[in-house]
Amino acid sequence: MSKFYADSMLGKLSRFLRFLGYDTLYRIEEDIETMLKNAKNNNRIILSQARKVIQLSNKNEITSIMMPTSNIVDQLRVLKKEIDLNLEIPPKEMRCSMCNGELQERNKNEIANKIPKGTFEYYDTFWECKECGKIFWLGRHWEDIKRTITEVESR
Ligand SMILES: [Zn+2]
Repeated sequence: MSKFYADSMLGKLSRFLRFLGYDTLYRIEEDIETMLKNAKNNNRIILSQARKVIQLSNKNEITSIMMPTSNIVDQLRVLKKEIDLNLEIPPKEMRCSMCNGELQERNKNEIANKIPKGTFEYYDTFWECKECGKIFWLGRHWEDIKRTITEVESR
């Protein structure tokens, strides 16, 4: 499974890739040099909207993919074409949108104290991030995600 390092400005795409189970780092404060080094050492594909970053990646023999627009559907379409991105939903494995940690499915009764009451009653399947402890469920965002993926698949 491909691993990514997404350049700054690609926060939404990073969260999406993590949701789809892809190990994705997101450049916030790290400098470009650090990103290049990490991508090279850990075999990560660099995603960027900056031509300069793509050129530097080529120069350092790092695989990179140019993200042409800020539209999430267009970005996912490019990745589907370039690396055959797996858009299966719900994904078999998901990662934390906040920290990129692996998610683990949890019995909701064991984590009841961490879930808002209404949510606890309404949903049955919950995941917990192994790294930061954040709890996830297929809530309101889920419909948006499904709509986005349907749109990506429609062409
Ligand atoms: Zn986390």
